[in-house]
Order: sequence, then structure tokens, then C-alpha cells
Amino acid sequence: MKNITILGATGTIGINTLNVLKQHRHEFEVIALTAHRQVERLEALCLEWSPRYAVMADSNAAEQLQQRLTKKTKKNPPVQVLSGTEGLTFVASLPEVDIVMAAIVGSAGLLPTLAAAQAGKRVLLANKEALVMSGQLFMDAVRQHGAELLPIDSEHNAVFQCLPPAFKISHPPPLKTGDSSSNPLKGEEKIQNPNSKIQNMAAGGLDEIGVSRILLTASGGPFRTHSIEQLHDVTPSQACAHPNWKMGRKISVDSATMMNKGLEVIEAHWLFATQPKNIEVVLHPQSIIHSMVEYIDGSVLAQLGNPDMRTPIAHALAWPKRISSGVRRLNLVDIARLDFEAVDFARFPCLQLAYDAMSAGGTTTTILNAANEIAVQAFLQERLRFTAIPKVIETTLSRLSGRMADFLETILEDDARARKLALSVISEQ
Ligand code: NAD
Ligand code: MG
Repeated sequence: MKNITILGATGTIGINTLNVLKQHRHEFEVIALTAHRQVERLEALCLEWSPRYAVMADSNAAEQLQQRLTKKTKKNPPVQVLSGTEGLTFVASLPEVDIVMAAIVGSAGLLPTLAAAQAGKRVLLANKEALVMSGQLFMDAVRQHGAELLPIDSEHNAVFQCLPPAFKISHPPPLKTGDSSSNPLKGEEKIQNPNSKIQNMAAGGLDEIGVSRILLTASGGPFRTHSIEQLHDVTPSQACAHPNWKMGRKISVDSATMMNKGLEVIEAHWLFATQPKNIEVVLHPQSIIHSMVEYIDGSVLAQLGNPDMRTPIAHALAWPKRISSGVRRLNLVDIARLDFEAVDFARFPCLQLAYDAMSAGGTTTTILNAANEIAVQAFLQERLRFTAIPKVIETTLSRLSGRMADFLETILEDDARARKLALSVISEQ
């Protein structure tokens, strides 16, 4: 029996996780469930799953949940209701918990996901923003505390499945002389040689096992064939109507701008300790190949399946074992063909912004992520045009330089600065 905490239980990934767990009730016990402000939804999940803890993001919502559960169960609820970041980090690091599903969307997921890594848990990472914000710090925590990091993002889960079974994401790369992580610069100092860390990491990464390239596939989102003129007038509901995947609204907009793929390139860089030039994106509209790994002998290994997040979730829950997920079998004859296209960086500038931020290193990706979150929120609230999203991010990046990202305080400071700046850039639009 494995004990699990689900951070972001009411979201798309959270619900898919509970769906897989329902099929394996004797192997997993749900210890804690968390949500932002969806009191009724978390109440329903608490009644169904009887976790020991439930966490709401704010104290008002927590109080409401407590009252509703007391009414329903006609006594003190057996579920302990907590709130805020403190509550989230508490349930992410409980000694009795083996597995933490990190499925909060955005920067709100950073502290609890980091807490799970620091507590040495098996961390099922859906919250890619945590890694984009604090890649070095997060991977250091995974290594130092012996956490087991398994990717839920379908592309990274696919890459992981195409790597040799002995490959472990927490495998420590050997330190080289001059590696800044053995001689940390102060947070205030600007990056001297932005690529030094990346180059050092590659020494212990995929090069050693004969991998020459990671090929991340991208569906291209709902606007793959739109012209720039057509992109100008798209609405939030059009952006959230992804052709292949059902996802939360923020990641749906990210898929439409292709910033999602940009965040995933950065995610791949940290998870697989490989240089940006070895990570390529190829458009594959059917989303059947979830990603590929190319080896130096010319072999290219791919992982295929129907686009359904229950596959990577089941894979990571049971790894290295396999369990059923409820996903429909792949029928290649029905699919008939698999297409591939090059990415158009002119229509989707967010992807280039992400590559550039990754090469700059340090908190530049923290700034990218924060500006993107603010711009996407403004677009979803119809305060910003779709085509202005990359402009807001680019302007924010041009006005705020990245710093060494060795300290959490520096990362959180630059995240806050970038949010403030992005808001003022939006007001200028
Ligand atoms: P979602 O919007 O459906 O769900 C987000 C969850 O996080 C909800 O439970 C919500 O209550 C919680 N949450 C939101 N803001 C919060 C806050 N401030 N504090 C605490 N909790 C908060 O999102 P999703 O589609 O499930 O995505 C979750 C994460 O997984 C994202 O980082 C996304 O990029 C990643 N991901 C999702 C998919 C997918 O298919 N949905 C695929 C790959 C990666
Ligand atoms: Mg993905």
C-alpha cells in the first residue's frame, strides 16, 4: 500500500489521478487532497475518498469546507482541514506519505512541490512551472534529499520511457572545477557566464548514455494553421478548445501560444540535464507520438499512445511496474497517418522567448514564467489580446535582468518583480 498526497486534486490532472487510483484502490491510499477555492468540489472528493487532510489555498475557503463537512458528517469531520502555503507544504512532506502528485497550476505550486522534494518523496511532477522558475534549486533538492522525480508531462514521461531503464532523473552529474553550484555566487550578482551551468550539467546527463537529441512533439494547439491576422482576434474560449487534450485554462492558453512547449523545453533541460541545442521541437498534430529520443547510432525511440493523461499518471504511480490506466487502446489503422511539420517561430514567438531565456539562465526563466502567467490571466479576463501575450513577456524580459538563481529568496523576489512589471506593461498596451 502506498500513501499519496494530491496537490491540485480538483484540476484536470488531479481528477485524472483519482480516476487511475479508483482502478487500484487496494494499492494506494489517499492521505491528502488540496484545492484553490473550489470548496464544493473538494468537499465531494473528501466525502468520496476520506483523506486525513484537506487543504484550501485560503482560510475563508478552508472555513467553508470545514463547516460543510461538519454538517454532512453530523460530527467533527474525520478530515482535518488546513489552509495556505503552510498547509500545502505540510501535506507535501508528511512522514507517512510516499508519493506526492504535484498538480497545482503555476507558481503557487513551487513551495509545496519543493517541500515534497526536500522530504525525499516520490514526486510526480505535473507542475512544470516549478521547474521553470527554479530548475537548479529544485534539481539540487531532489539530489540532496534522495527524492524520486517522475515526469507527468506527457512529453517528458515519453522521453523518460525511451531512456535506458537504469536512467534516474535524480542521478547526480559530476561536479567540475569552476561549477558555480560548488562555489555559489551571491544572489545579487548578475550572471557572469550564463551557459557555464548548462555545459557542466551535460557532462553527467544524456551524452554519457549515447543520446544525441530529444525531440519534443507539439500538437500546435488550436491555432496551428491560423495566420497572424487571424490570431489577432481569437477569444479565450477558442484558445481553450484544444483539439486533442482536455486541460485547465492556463495550460490551454499556453498550448495555443506555444509557450507550453517553451516551458517544456526548459523542463526537459533540467530533468534530463541536457543542453538547449539538443532539445528540438517538432509539430505533430495527431498527438499520438508523445516525444522521441535520438541516439548517436541513428536510432530514434518514440513512445506512442492515445492522448490521455492517465497513461503518464499510471506509469509514474507504479514505476518501474506497469498498471492499467483505463486508457483506450491505440488503433493505428484508424489513425492511419502521423504527420510532422516544422515550427513557425514567427507566428508563435513565445517558443523562441523560452529558448532565449533558458540560454540566459538564472532567474531569466523565472521572469519569463511570471510575465507569462500575468499575460495569460489578462487574456483570459479579456484585458489583453492574444497576440499581445508574447509582447508583454518580451518587454518584461527586456526591462528586468536575470540573476543567479541559487537562493529561493532571489527566485521569489524576481518572480514578484516580474509580475508587477508585467502588469504595468499590460496597462501600457
Ligand atoms: P487545472 O487548472 O485544471 O487545475 C489546477 C489545480 O491547482 C486545481 O486543483 C486548483 O484548485 C489548484 N490551484 C490553482 N491555483 C492555486 C493556488 N493559487 N493555490 C493552490 N492551488 C491552486 O490545471 P491542470 O490542467 O490540471 O494543470 C495542472 C498542472 O499540470 C499545470 O502546471 C500544467 O502545466 C500541468 N500539466 C497539465 C496537463 C494536462 O493535460 N492538464 C498536462 C501536462 C502538464
Ligand atoms: Mg505536455
